[in-house]
Amino acid sequence: MPGTTVFERYPPSDAVLDAALADTRLAALWLDELPQRRPRPELVGDASADLCIVGGGLTGLWTAVLAAQREPGRRILLVEGKRLGWAASGRSGGIVDSRLAGAHAAQRWPGEAARLQRLGRENLDEIELAVGSLRLDVDWHRSGELLVAAEPHQLELLRGSRPNPDGSLPDTVLLGAEAVRREIDSPSALGGSWRRRDAATLDPARLVIELARVAQELGVEIVESSPVRALIDTPDGMDVVTASGRVRARAVALATSAFPSLLRRARLLTLPVYEYALATEPLEPRRMKTLAWERRQALRGLGRRSHWMRRTGDDRVVFGGFFAQYHYGGRLRAAHEDRPDLHRALAAHLLTTFPQLEGVRFSHRWAGAIDRDTRGSGHYGTAREGRVVYAGGFSGTGLGTARFAGRVMLDLLAGERTELTELAVVRERPAPFPPEPAVYAAMTTAQRALDRADHRGGEHGALLRALRAVGLAP
Ligand SMILES: Cc1cc2nc3c(=O)[nH]c(=O)nc-3n(C[C@H](O)[C@H](O)[C@H](O)COP(=O)(O)OP(=O)(O)OC[C@H]3O[C@@H](n4cnc5c(N)ncnc54)[C@H](O)[C@@H]3O)c2cc1C
Repeated sequence: MPGTTVFERYPPSDAVLDAALADTRLAALWLDELPQRRPRPELVGDASADLCIVGGGLTGLWTAVLAAQREPGRRILLVEGKRLGWAASGRSGGIVDSRLAGAHAAQRWPGEAARLQRLGRENLDEIELAVGSLRLDVDWHRSGELLVAAEPHQLELLRGSRPNPDGSLPDTVLLGAEAVRREIDSPSALGGSWRRRDAATLDPARLVIELARVAQELGVEIVESSPVRALIDTPDGMDVVTASGRVRARAVALATSAFPSLLRRARLLTLPVYEYALATEPLEPRRMKTLAWERRQALRGLGRRSHWMRRTGDDRVVFGGFFAQYHYGGRLRAAHEDRPDLHRALAAHLLTTFPQLEGVRFSHRWAGAIDRDTRGSGHYGTAREGRVVYAGGFSGTGLGTARFAGRVMLDLLAGERTELTELAVVRERPAPFPPEPAVYAAMTTAQRALDRADHRGGEHGALLRALRAVGLAP
């Protein structure tokens, strides 16, 4: 039927949705499942450090671990405004991708496409190595990612090769309808491509806890509940100022993601965009089997607005994406997370994808803010004569990039020219977003245009093309 999407053609009934969402908690699965954590101390009075890292998500934590490994004995202090991992890192889907600079990096920087791909795979390999060598208890599965076409027009977006005649598999395997349904038995799957080595799944909140453990074992000090208010230049570095303390630091790394940057020049480089997610209760083995999802790949749709999905260690399905919400003025508020309408729409999409899940209940629903930039690629920079470094704008794929960003920031702080600092994605700054009210108008227009494109066989009108050209639509 033209003009509709698969989700409108095969929706679940209201009664099924009501029952599935009747007792769903508003809480991020991974954070909710962590054992009780004792809060770390607040910063009180004066402290000093060679390197002060602001932000205790995965970017800040990887930066701390890598800095301590590079230079044992360096005095490193990580300052978190609330709790480690409470923001995007602990709320993510836990899909770690090898892509470092967004889905469109190859078109934007064709001369560097091969290098970015190699560096991305090395980054993922090194995360896997760290999981083993540092004994990170994070439920790691390197099963790749399956991109799934759910509409006929999406089939032409699939890339990859057929399995070789001897049965061996290329890096990216192109799967027809039957083959993709052997990997995941969804009636809406029309074809797929499996990026076999390019993604892994893990428990992101456990990664936060484990990296914090390793950082502390390496001598890093961590404080929580200490929002940084200002950075003040001093003759030999920076003062990092909180409500009740101050760190005299020789250098500062900012890993504050979607939160307002402490540097005025970086403020319009990122926008907080809310993304929504759901988790089912653990599925019984019999029910899990009906999904045929033996290899545990991460799953992703192929539209400009796409879903992601993964299986957890205890056989839940975690599902999210598609509905991105920007709020006027870039406001971050807990109230934006409680959107029963969007969670219900997500639940309906999951039940269209897997009607076998009818009767399963959703245990958790949550949301978090993603740091979008106008390239969707992440950006890096220095300020205050090279004593402050920042990274952000990972645009929804930051779990792998967080570690890469740590390496880039440390290279930039060292003033070294390295393979990483010479990359165009590191050297070139993205255009800033326009100020309000223009950005709100553009973001809401983009959402409507994306919805129209979904209903027109993926065809992008002139308006959507124009918004994409200036980075205001994905
Ligand atoms: C629902 C959802 C699903 C996602 N799924 C995936 C996925 O499957 N795969 C993927 O790759 N990415 C995913 N992402 C994106 C991913 O979570 C982020 O890119 C990544 O976690 C960013 O990590 P971070 O450390 O940079 O930011 P955050 O985890 O947001 O951490 C930033 C920290 O900085 C602190 N901070 C900010 N300002 C200050 C200040 N002034 N003083 C002190 N502390 C401060 C905050 O309190 C926060 O703890 C998802 C995001 C969401 C919301």
